[in-house]
Amino acid sequence: MRRRLGALALALLCLLPAGCAGGPKQYEATYWDLFDTVTVIKGYADSEADFTVRAQAIHDQLLEYHQLYDIYHDYEGIANLKTVNDSAGIAPVEVDRRIIDLLLVCKALYAGSGGAVNAAMGSVLSLWHEAREAALADPENAALPDGAALEEALAHIDFDAVVIDEAASTVFLPDPDQRLDVGAVAKGYAAAQVTKDEETLILNLGGNVCTAGPKADGSPWVVAVPDPDSGETLDELSLTRGAAVTSGDYQRYFTVDGEIYHHIIDPSTGWPARNWQSVTVLCADSGVADALSTALFVLDQGEGEALLAEYGAQAIWVDQEGTVLRSAGFTGTL
Ligand code: ADP
Ligand code: MG
Repeated sequence: MRRRLGALALALLCLLPAGCAGGPKQYEATYWDLFDTVTVIKGYADSEADFTVRAQAIHDQLLEYHQLYDIYHDYEGIANLKTVNDSAGIAPVEVDRRIIDLLLVCKALYAGSGGAVNAAMGSVLSLWHEAREAALADPENAALPDGAALEEALAHIDFDAVVIDEAASTVFLPDPDQRLDVGAVAKGYAAAQVTKDEETLILNLGGNVCTAGPKADGSPWVVAVPDPDSGETLDELSLTRGAAVTSGDYQRYFTVDGEIYHHIIDPSTGWPARNWQSVTVLCADSGVADALSTALFVLDQGEGEALLAEYGAQAIWVDQEGTVLRSAGFTGTL
């Protein structure tokens, strides 16, 4: 079996020299309590104290997004996506504008990708989530989701059935068996929102890398794309204002009878997509980059190229043999 990268090695690596002499210095902060992954913020400030205040403010905003988009936990006083899921078939839920806005982006990308990225397929994803959690807790007894249950869940993934009422700020799932899961888009979307007004800053939210302006000396941030097999650098991207997001089959997975079952599911089959080992998308909008990385992971190269052209994005695919493909007009810069 080929070498699997550890959870931390998956994140796109940022190759960053020390801050420039005389001017503002470069600082870094790491957080472990956001979106079930590691978050690294790097930026420039006149003092560590100044940077810490700024990084903490970004963290605190991200924590709010995390809680709003969480489908597994309740938070006192917050109507989040779990509340919406729990109210499926019962009643609309009044939610924060940040939920409405994310769902509108998800809906647009669902339509744009021909359903390849579908935030309304929580019914299917939860079966894989449960199987993975059980397998990781007890690898000896790892088992696949029940085939009949998967088939049944696939009948409840139509995003067009989700009722988003912008005026009332409510969301309703009329189908009692439908569930939302925004895992494919939420990190990239939240990263874009919290860095909107930033300058000279780079945020790496579990491999979703989002830049807000160049480094203090005006040069771009250099982001390494790792080879899924060796972990060595495949390519170096130069980013000043834009995002690079990788979806990979090595990021979250479990093993049954020596076969790997990862976390990106093809909505047309209900099973893990098998075209690629990893797909990295570059796009000015970090939320779109995140959604496209998942969509392209499901689609073949031709379908992916068409999507990239539509959104002005670029991609690097690594196929099952380790062959590296780059999209038409790829520059690796943004
Ligand atoms: P990661 O979140 O690990 O960086 P992705 O952005 O590709 O990777 O998102 C994968 C997550 O999105 C999964 O954990 C699952 O919750 C959800 N997901 C998996 N397949 C799809 C899909 N085809 N459409 C929408 N969401 C998906
Ligand atoms: Mg994604």
